[in-house]
Order: sequence, then structure tokens, then C-alpha cells
Amino acid sequence: MSKLSNIILVPLTTRGVQEYIEELDAEVRGILNEAGLSNIDILVWPDVVKPPMKCFDWTRVQYHAGCLAKHIKDVFQVIGVLDKNVVIGVGYIDGFEHGLNFVFGEALPDQRVAVVFTKRLKPEFYGNHPDYNLYFERLVKEVVHELGHLLGLEHCSGNCVMRFSNSVVEVDEKPKYFCGDCKEKIKRYYMSRTK
Ligand SMILES: [Zn+2]
Ligand SMILES: [Zn+2]
Repeated sequence: MSKLSNIILVPLTTRGVQEYIEELDAEVRGILNEAGLSNIDILVWPDVVKPPMKCFDWTRVQYHAGCLAKHIKDVFQVIGVLDKNVVIGVGYIDGFEHGLNFVFGEALPDQRVAVVFTKRLKPEFYGNHPDYNLYFERLVKEVVHELGHLLGLEHCSGNCVMRFSNSVVEVDEKPKYFCGDCKEKIKRYYMSRTK
């Protein structure tokens, strides 16, 4: 695989994403720095890339994660972005994968693309009061998690952001940081892509 230089953060919706994007950028950057990846840069895509209707399932009222990831891949491959970067799309929408009622995100590491679905990260989804900070924490964790997959990590059973979460409770229980093992792996992966 070719060189890796940057992470491109792409808003898929205005609502629930764009008002957080600068803070999200800064927070994710801090977590990557903390993991020893100080050379990798995060670029925020200036436009909203709308999820296409072909990926929407009208019966489930959800987007198909694989379809959306592939769409993002197609959009960014055409303009050459994927030659050197990984792309992560973040949308305040709900997503599913075959065999699963919903997913918080999906990564296609071979394609250098991931998506994060944030609809179920909002307390309002569960009938609770809005909570800016709680939503933001969850957003950070899910973005860092999918980014970890794009940087070669698998799921991890440690006290780690790479722990698989099947519910928002499990998202809240895990830290937003990589564990020691994952930090080592991610650094090795990044070095192997920048030589
Ligand atoms: Zn995962
Ligand atoms: Zn870990």
C-alpha cells in the first residue's frame, strides 16, 4: 500500500457534526499525539458530502454502512485523495449492516475509508435530555475507534478505545485513548507507511 500522510475528516451532515468539527479535530489530534503519532495531520473537508439515497433503506429508515463507505471511497478516489490519505465520514444519521440492527461505524481499512453514525450517540435518541459534552465524548470515541481500524488496529479487549461497543453504555464505559499495546501497533503501522 502507498504512503500515508493525512486523515481527512468529512462531515456527512451539517446537523450534529459541523458544529463540533473543529473541537473534534483538536481532540482527535490530541489523542493521536498522545499515542505518538505527532506527524499525522487531520484535515477537515470544507463541504458536506451528502449520503446518497441509494444507500438508504426505506423500510429500516437507516443507511447501509457498507454502501455509504463505498460511496465515500468512490467520491474521494476520483479526486486522488485516497492515494495518500485515509478518509473518515461522520454523519448524524443511523446506520446498519446486514445481520446487525445498527452500527456506530464501519471501517474498510483496505479501501482507506470509514464512516461513523452519530444518531444513536445523542442522549435524545434514548429520550434523555440533550447533553453537549456527553455527545461530544461519544463522538470522539467512535471517530478514534474507526480511525484505529484505518490505522491497522483490530478490536481490543483491554481498557482501550478499540474495545467493541454494542450499545451507548459500552461506548461510555470505554476510554477515548488507545491502550499501550494498541499505541505500539499503531505506531508501527504508521512508520511502515511513511518510510
Ligand atoms: Zn470496531
Ligand atoms: Zn487496545
